[in-house]
Amino acid sequence: MAKIDFNFRKKLNAMIGGELHSYCFQCGACVGDCPAARYSPRFNPRRIMLQAILGQADPLLAEDSVIWECTNCYNCYERCPQDVRPVEVIMALKNMTHKARTNPQQVNDMVKAVQETGRTVVLTSVVDRRRGEMGLEKMGDVPMDEIRKLMQTRFH
Ligand code: SF4
Ligand code: SF4
Repeated sequence: MAKIDFNFRKKLNAMIGGELHSYCFQCGACVGDCPAARYSPRFNPRRIMLQAILGQADPLLAEDSVIWECTNCYNCYERCPQDVRPVEVIMALKNMTHKARTNPQQVNDMVKAVQETGRTVVLTSVVDRRRGEMGLEKMGDVPMDEIRKLMQTRFH
């Protein structure tokens, strides 16, 4: 019989959207229209919800966790008859990896770029040149004061 880690579930419940995993009755409707599941044999939102229900912290919060393959497309949000919103449970899990410092290095690099430049990717002269070639304007300045204030906001 599967052992449930209720302590992990309690921590997940405390994250925004994390508590929704409890309503999953494993129908699989979220899988049918999930682009990540179509292209990755290891990705399955129904299975991720099951792992959350069982409280399987190790695979879910590992640095190479499958949760990072979610595209945030929200198809599962629309399909779920239980209003579980798998995408939001997955986001809650991602936030847990950040707290546990097990998120992938690429994510840390992205967070650092946002803190320093307000953008997820640092702009270079090459980007400006390519934009010019495509007839696009240069990227404008980013309101760093507002972004810093947002980053200091604690939602829990
Ligand atoms: S948000 Fe993620 S889990 Fe949901 S359908 Fe899109 S890729 Fe799949
Ligand atoms: S559609 Fe909703 S209830 Fe069904 S498996 Fe997916 S998350 Fe669970």
